[in-house]
Amino acid sequence: IYGGERINSRGLNTHAEAHLEPLLSRLGQWAGTSWHAGPVIRGTRVLDGQRKEVSSPYDVSKSPGTVVWAGRDQVEEALATADAGFRAWNERPVAERARFLEKYADLLEQNMEELMAICCREAGKTIQDGIDEVREAVDFCRYYAIQGRARFGSPIALPGPTGESNELYMEGRGVFLCISPWNFPLAIFTGQIMAALVAGNTVIAKPAEQASLVAYRAVELMLEAGFPPDVIQLLPGDGEELGGILTPDPRIAGIAFTGSTQVAHLLNRTLAGRDGAIVPLIAETGGQNAMIVDSSALPEQVVRDVLLSAFASAGQRCSALRVLYLQNDVADRMETMLAGAMQQLFVGNPELHSTDVGPVIDAAAKQALQAHLDELDRNARLIARTPLPSICQSGHFIAPSAYGIESIKGLKNEHFGPILHVVRYDAERLDEVIDEINDSGYGLTLGIHSRSESTASYIEQRVKVGNTYVNRNQIGAVVGVQPFGGRGLSGTGPKAGGPHYLQRFSTERTRTVNT
Ligand code: GLU
Repeated sequence: IYGGERINSRGLNTHAEAHLEPLLSRLGQWAGTSWHAGPVIRGTRVLDGQRKEVSSPYDVSKSPGTVVWAGRDQVEEALATADAGFRAWNERPVAERARFLEKYADLLEQNMEELMAICCREAGKTIQDGIDEVREAVDFCRYYAIQGRARFGSPIALPGPTGESNELYMEGRGVFLCISPWNFPLAIFTGQIMAALVAGNTVIAKPAEQASLVAYRAVELMLEAGFPPDVIQLLPGDGEELGGILTPDPRIAGIAFTGSTQVAHLLNRTLAGRDGAIVPLIAETGGQNAMIVDSSALPEQVVRDVLLSAFASAGQRCSALRVLYLQNDVADRMETMLAGAMQQLFVGNPELHSTDVGPVIDAAAKQALQAHLDELDRNARLIARTPLPSICQSGHFIAPSAYGIESIKGLKNEHFGPILHVVRYDAERLDEVIDEINDSGYGLTLGIHSRSESTASYIEQRVKVGNTYVNRNQIGAVVGVQPFGGRGLSGTGPKAGGPHYLQRFSTERTRTVNT
């Protein structure tokens, strides 16, 4: 299923002038553009209505465009359209459905710079993050197209007595509601929708409020790729309001959600309270992700991987490192090196290639992170803080910061930004460290830095997470290479970009014929 037939999309070496210069000049062409978004129902783009001005997280005086939010009537129209479109779409051969995914992947690549520009201006994505965003979206399409063909293409023949044939088929479930986050506004948006579609479902997509422009442009490209207009409906708007109408509706046959644990619980409760069919929730939520560094680890490698894991994408990844455990014997040295490296990070305008860390998503996020920093200032030991240049006053910036704390137990919530907590431990306390991490209830990513294979595997076998990374950074899972997703408070699985993902979007049917 996975191997020779598939390759991941190509990257760009932005350290090579020959690649960087043409990219910057193509990106520059989108500099003054305004995008306008609204609901898309049966292929009709709804742009009249009350337009909300979008502002760039790194410069709130600039606007990349406007969005019209969906109202109640559009929700009903979207539900009716998606419901009516299901049967024909589900009956189409999967090979045809998969071809639309591949065509859409090609269009994503052809429109890469525009999509990067929107991700930057709407969601504050740096150039590197923008490249990775489009690549991941492309990879999801091609991977699920292959998986779809392999799993839905022909029935599995099953044994039976003479005179009887038995087969197992995979089919779509109905209308899938895809609720996506702002931190991967194109990649996760695309991944959820493509998985649902290739499995034979129709989709109502509800993008994050902060990321409607790129979602809208993506849906335009889906229609250009030839997806029938009744299979994908887009409803930008208020999550609470739209979710409150959509989730209880019996026409919703499943939900794919990426976002906070709190909202996943709410969706779960609403689905549980519904009469009628019992439907699946696929939730990918947060993490209280740890990295354990023992005294045998290579310090330079640790520092590089900590910087990336904790501060890349301004720490706004659910995979990001939140709690770094340093073995006491090496803690002083590691902290000094980390503090030095943090002074070299460049925080600022994500349009510039030299920027390492862009803004956080909006004023509310900044305020919540600032409140946590204030609390840490009172109760914890500051290790280092990256200086913020004056340009950062124009937007929602948080300085990457590292604090020494006593234990992960003091952290009640996930702090979704560039804040790293450091805990020191003695080697003989390793079991306690493992218990503490497990007791957080989350189980998403784990980093281990050790040159002792037995220590690494001891930790790995005991910490309950979905993705473990040994002697490297712990972010940036690659489709088909590191299928991504956690357990416990971190989500339901199955893993996105993995071989079992499509199964949860489908229903199985056996067919027995007396021959
Ligand atoms: N898959 C991403 C990573 O490995 C994180 C996804 C998320 O933040 O939701 O970094």
